[in-house]
Amino acid sequence: MNAVIHDSPAVVPGLAWNNRFAGLGPDFFTELPPTPLPSPYWVSRNQALAGEMGLAQPWFESQEALALFTGNRVAQGARPLSSVYSGHQFGQWAGQLGDGRAILLGELQTAAGAQEIQLKGAGVTPYSRMGDGRAVLRSSIREYLCSEAMHGLGIPTTRALCVTGSDAKVRREEIETAAVVTRTAPSFIRFGHFEHFSYSDQHEQLKVLADFVIDNFYPACREGAQPYASLLQAVSERTADLVAAWQGVGFCHGVMNTDNMSILGLTIDYGPFQFLDAFDPGQVCNHSDTQGRYAYNKQPNIAYWNLFCLGQALLPLMDSQEQALAALESYKTVFPQALEGRMRAKLGLSDARPEDKTLIESAFKLLAADKVDYSIFWRRLGGFVPGAANEAVRDLFLDRPAFDAWALQYSERLAHVDQGLRADLMLKTNPKYVLRNHLGEQAIQAAKVMDFSGVDTLLTLLQAPFDEHTAHGSFAGFPPDWASSIEISCSS
Ligand code: AMP
Ligand code: MG
Repeated sequence: MNAVIHDSPAVVPGLAWNNRFAGLGPDFFTELPPTPLPSPYWVSRNQALAGEMGLAQPWFESQEALALFTGNRVAQGARPLSSVYSGHQFGQWAGQLGDGRAILLGELQTAAGAQEIQLKGAGVTPYSRMGDGRAVLRSSIREYLCSEAMHGLGIPTTRALCVTGSDAKVRREEIETAAVVTRTAPSFIRFGHFEHFSYSDQHEQLKVLADFVIDNFYPACREGAQPYASLLQAVSERTADLVAAWQGVGFCHGVMNTDNMSILGLTIDYGPFQFLDAFDPGQVCNHSDTQGRYAYNKQPNIAYWNLFCLGQALLPLMDSQEQALAALESYKTVFPQALEGRMRAKLGLSDARPEDKTLIESAFKLLAADKVDYSIFWRRLGGFVPGAANEAVRDLFLDRPAFDAWALQYSERLAHVDQGLRADLMLKTNPKYVLRNHLGEQAIQAAKVMDFSGVDTLLTLLQAPFDEHTAHGSFAGFPPDWASSIEISCSS
């Protein structure tokens, strides 16, 4: 069956398009429509995000919306395009990359502010290189669920409005089917966009891009003596906060290439990510990452390395190298402070004391020594009673004396803490539900035979991950043995 773009444009009722990125001009992108997919169907719609954006409910369920979010119809007022960027991949300069399968429809003025609407998996673009421009159902569901899980955890991220599928075949290691994720974000600009114009000596465009980002997203940077150094510092600080949040919740991104780093400090490009099950600081979640470059415990340093690349790219706009280095320096203070703040909250401590650092470090050591389940430990710790046996937590450890010694330290620290407030803070900080690999995998297997209910159930749980959802307690349990044999690679 042939899939065709309808002549008449679709209308998104009540919302206007603005398309600021398209105003940058043709050096920054290629305008092109998405490539249609045959006989699309809904996989899942994110009603919560639709509500926040002010998308009309009946319309979001219509055939017109299905066609629009699959790329089979273009919206009136949208200006579909793919942007060009470059980047460092696994530590090496990779040259030009770009949106090889993503098409930005444009920017919608929504009730939740201006949001760019991007279709991922919408067909080949001038930047597809050897790729087919498509995304498979499996990876689209993972991205959809994980971006909403991150949002539910309060961690900055691109979001996902819906997934549509088609029986069109896509070749990966095996034959799979195509899907499209509709992603939203205030901007999808990456470090790699800056690297692209800097390394190709297009310094005028570099300045246009930096001014665009400052004026639209970092207006305070305009006030300083050197707006571009201020931008680098602001991005460093946001990135520090972001990575501290990842570390705190046990999230491993898996492909922290500079083209996968958002200039807004959002989590972007969900591929072989993983929420840790057993706590292993050296965990490498990307099966293609044979050197372990993007291991969980390397993320903070890699983020700094990536910021360094961004600083290098911005140098032509700065007065001196020292200026860039000074701006980057902020990462080294903000990251440890942010991480300590996150971990203190996980311990239920709302004030800071000098001994907290040791308490946090020894908790990490203890968890690593016994490879304790990270999320279950923190959630159970919410029920800790100073001086009591605390069996629910203690039972997680093989080395009970080591746990007892730590529990004594913790009990002492809690002596002047209101226990009710502590428990409350911990329940709001330590999620009951995270997107463990096996949970995603189960939903994906069902979706492959057209049962999408598992995706919707997970979406509901992950959007409110601190709530009890007692009927779904099994989703908060230990992973089954087979979970550790799941291999997730870059293939998507
Ligand atoms: P990623 O590792 O998914 O961040 O992708 C790295 C680069 O490869 C980006 O430029 C993507 O657009 C591109 N890419 C990944 N998969 C495909 C595909 N199936 N078709 C075209 N380009 C792709
Ligand atoms: Mg990418």
